[in-house]
Amino acid sequence: MRRLIAANWKMNKTPKETEEYLKKFLRFVEHPESREILICPPFTSLCVASEMLKGTGVKLGAQNCHYEKKGAFTGEVSIPMLKELGCEYVIVGHSERRHIFGESDELIHKKVVACLEEGIRPILCVGEKKEEREAGMTFKVVETQIKLALNGIEEHVDKIDIAYEPVWAIGTGIPATPEDAVEVHIFIRNLLKEMNPKNEGKTRILYGGSVKPENAKEFMKHEEINGLLVGTASLDPESFAKIVYSF
Ligand code: PEP
Repeated sequence: MRRLIAANWKMNKTPKETEEYLKKFLRFVEHPESREILICPPFTSLCVASEMLKGTGVKLGAQNCHYEKKGAFTGEVSIPMLKELGCEYVIVGHSERRHIFGESDELIHKKVVACLEEGIRPILCVGEKKEEREAGMTFKVVETQIKLALNGIEEHVDKIDIAYEPVWAIGTGIPATPEDAVEVHIFIRNLLKEMNPKNEGKTRILYGGSVKPENAKEFMKHEEINGLLVGTASLDPESFAKIVYSF
């Protein structure tokens, strides 16, 4: 299984800044086939990124999508639009979408279904809030989010990636310990096996939450961690490159 290191830029970087970033970042990229490298810029930077990443082996993804192909959905972006720009991935159900924009498990499920129908790979984000961890509910929260997102499409677990991102670790500078992350990754792996024994081991499970160049190696030491989803530390090209080549 090729490990995936993904950058989630969130609402950062104009098209011009994207161009400047990629010029620098691509100088650090060697042997892109040894690991999968993914950049998810804002929608407005997809066009310039798409041109610059052509032929580099670095993949392009979006941070969100709508589940309909087209129509009267002001402000939304559809999967065919993303695919035409060369996007191969979409982040779905990021905690900021869930908790700031109120995305429900039902909506996230519709987006995952649409991704599978349109042939783009969703990275489904799941993770517990601080108070849920403190109440010992981590496994229950993660299980519910995964079961609702994949309800009725369990046979396709090989076509998605899952990012375990504890909400309390995102953007706080305080990551989970690699051991805590591994515990949840093993739980998710077993849950997926229960849901679809035939496709056992075919879903990548990434960790996300305050990953930096200084701690990336500690996560990637564990074979249960099949990749990383990186926010803040992916905004600097050198820092992201250090994470990409930390293992
Ligand atoms: C994220 O937004 O997916 C994320 C992991 O952010 P950060 O790396 O800043 O915690």
